[in-house]
Amino acid sequence: MLQSKLLTKTRKDGPKDEVSKNAILLTRAGYVNKEIAGVYSYLPLGLRVLNKINNIIREEMNAIGGQELFLTALQDSAPWKATDRWDSQKMDIWFKTKLLNNTELGLAFTHEEPLTALMKNHIRSFRDLPTYPYQIQTKFRNEARAKSGIMRSREFLMKDLYSFSKDENEHNIFYEKAKIAYKKVFEKVGLGDITYITFASGGSFSKYSHEFQTVTSAGEDIINCCDKCMIAVNSEVIKEQPACPKCGNTKLVEKKASEVGNIFTLGTKFSEPLGLYYVNEKNEKLSVFMGCYGIGPGRVMGTVVEVFADDKGLVWPKAIAPFSVHIIEISGDSDKVKKSAKDLYEKLEKMGIETLYDDRDLRAGEKFNDSDLLGIPLRIVVSEKGLAEGVFEVKDRASGKVEMVKEKDILEFVEKNK
Ligand code: ATP
Ligand code: MG
Repeated sequence: MLQSKLLTKTRKDGPKDEVSKNAILLTRAGYVNKEIAGVYSYLPLGLRVLNKINNIIREEMNAIGGQELFLTALQDSAPWKATDRWDSQKMDIWFKTKLLNNTELGLAFTHEEPLTALMKNHIRSFRDLPTYPYQIQTKFRNEARAKSGIMRSREFLMKDLYSFSKDENEHNIFYEKAKIAYKKVFEKVGLGDITYITFASGGSFSKYSHEFQTVTSAGEDIINCCDKCMIAVNSEVIKEQPACPKCGNTKLVEKKASEVGNIFTLGTKFSEPLGLYYVNEKNEKLSVFMGCYGIGPGRVMGTVVEVFADDKGLVWPKAIAPFSVHIIEISGDSDKVKKSAKDLYEKLEKMGIETLYDDRDLRAGEKFNDSDLLGIPLRIVVSEKGLAEGVFEVKDRASGKVEMVKEKDILEFVEKNK
């Protein structure tokens, strides 16, 4: 894409009312726009990153048998009344709205109730189980605090998968598969080394659950880590579980972390009140055994920013960067430079390498600052000086390493390092 056509502009200063690093940098770089506290629009660059994260999640959910669907954000109260989760006094997370005839509707903060009710049309016998619907869909939550930028917002995307199994044994097999799939997601987005699988309280659902916690000073949780096993215990349950659940290590290290995903065993907590049954081989009617599995793509994106950004700006891992290559043309009106930069851009695009080409008529310093702020992994500078020596200057955004690459070798170099 030509940067001259990009609809967003960068800005020097962060918004005055933001405190989190992710919100400040993403706003300055034109990736997101804050509409009201805790409510962010994703602009073209931000959406490219978000979609890459979503696609990595999709791939892994499909690989374990997930089937994607898309439920509504406007919700009927009936199934919520059946599980006693409609009352806003008890559930202050709700945003609600009304039809013209005054009928109250909910704005989805999660989907256990409507999906369980819906599955009654599709699950009848043991032959229909197990099954794993999931979606990447908008949730609304009236969060008390909204100081963490896109890591905790009041309107956000969630990937929520729900498992419907015949019994606990069948459930446990999938639960373990989901753990592995989650690990792969966090590895692919670049957070593998610092994401712990964490033993946590199951809240009102079950005794225990598992969280995926990425170590960052911007996190809102405290976890107690066993670095040998990459397993941690959330501080909420450390009294009950004071050692590593795998190796028994009692010298756990306290760290701040962000909960990027979590998985719960629900059992029959929703299927019973909503009447989701199946008939087994012996013609007995049994409640379906459920689990739920969440990831917040926006929280993942915000966490990546917090972990990798430096004092110059954003730094994207290759797998989720909005573009792989940023071409900076320093032309000083030289037609030769312009031609060479355009030619390189067209060749990279033809190779299917996503490239942002800074063809703007600006000072070199301004272009370099913008490039650092945007955080695209590979920067290629096309300048008169370089061309005179037959080279492009290539800089790796993450390491800062600069190399001179011969013109004839550039495509191969990019292919290898993209
Ligand atoms: P937290 O304890 O941080 O509020 P939660 O336990 O309420 O999270 P879930 O309801 O299990 O979270 O949601 C699943 C995933 O959705 C979380 O692991 C997180 O990645 C993401 N998520 C939850 N709340 C938000 C939010 N307000 N903004 C962005 N992402 C969120
Ligand atoms: Mg919450």
